Amino acid sequence: MQPIEVVNLQTHVEPGRSQAVEEARRQFQICNACRYCESYCSVFPALHRQRELEDGELQQLANLCHNCRACHYACQYTAPHEFALNVPAALAEVRQQVWQENASPKWLARLFHRSGAAIAAVTSLAFALLLWLAQGLSGGDGVGFYAVVPHNIMVALFLPAFILPLISVAVGLRRYWRSIGGTRITLRHLHAAMGAVSTMKNLAAGHGDGCNFEDEDRFSHKRRLYHQATMYGFLLCFAATSAGTILHYALNLPAPYNLFSVPKLLGLSGGILLCIGTLGLAYLKTKADPNLSAQRVWGGEMGFILLLFSVSSTGLLLYAFANGDWLPELLALHLGTVLAFFVLIPFSKMVHGFYRLAALIRDEQMKADG
Ligand code: SF4
Ligand code: SF4
Repeated sequence: MQPIEVVNLQTHVEPGRSQAVEEARRQFQICNACRYCESYCSVFPALHRQRELEDGELQQLANLCHNCRACHYACQYTAPHEFALNVPAALAEVRQQVWQENASPKWLARLFHRSGAAIAAVTSLAFALLLWLAQGLSGGDGVGFYAVVPHNIMVALFLPAFILPLISVAVGLRRYWRSIGGTRITLRHLHAAMGAVSTMKNLAAGHGDGCNFEDEDRFSHKRRLYHQATMYGFLLCFAATSAGTILHYALNLPAPYNLFSVPKLLGLSGGILLCIGTLGLAYLKTKADPNLSAQRVWGGEMGFILLLFSVSSTGLLLYAFANGDWLPELLALHLGTVLAFFVLIPFSKMVHGFYRLAALIRDEQMKADG
């Protein structure tokens, strides 16, 4: 182990520099000398490849971290030690800063991370009310859901609500990629990073026992499983919508579809998985120690999880009561939550998936470069 030299334990911040980045730099200077957590996750091996600890390198390390907290419970330099290390919280603060600084407009991202639950609820209800009012004005032009909200109105609302937020995320990601020194992406980088995402192997940690997210330092795979349920549930719902689009436009088979059709089977299984995953993540969030994350964004993260739960639960209610008297209200509520989800993508925790993928790709590049 190298000798640890920490001249000033109070993080000194030059004017115009980020307090969060400076604090992460201070903590990683200690970690770089200690190296006890080398095998815990991909952050520490990456840290030891990045001796300069430039701002971009710290941003990359922050997005590699998945807040499993193993390093904190293992660390001999946490408070009350004078070094007062709290690596999970320091990296969570840098991550939040990266996401907010790369969002457009930044103030909306800051607002959502602070008051996400309220913003998600108001946006969902406002869209639901608009859609409900639009039903009365326009009248349907088809059967099934299209008898309530005309097909053209659905397309006019959802196409920009889907594409514009993704463009906004792509612009922010490009800025992030430049700041972390990313280079040309090859298929090999992509394949390795997608493999890590699809199995979420990082959430099993280097030792394979899972995260220390709930119940303090007890290892558990619950967080990984709920994350997988959420991700695959979301992807199945997305696949259901895509299958419906292909049936409608390519095969001239418009909705409604029966229970054993591809869109319905994908949507039903996706909705159930998404409900289970989001409820599980919300529960774990109430159990986890808030001091080991960016506390100021707890509400925003919970708001995002509850918004995803609202999307899936209202979707399942629609399946169950598609022929009931409440169809117009249920459809407005479901479409309102879906619209709110898409519109808020660049400002919500949803961006963590994009940044994490970018960080994993960059990590593969750096491993290849040695
Ligand atoms: S978190 Fe603590 S134990 Fe782990 S490498 Fe850093 S200083 Fe060492
Ligand atoms: S919280 Fe987990 S993922 Fe993040 S640096 Fe510590 S051990 Fe690694």
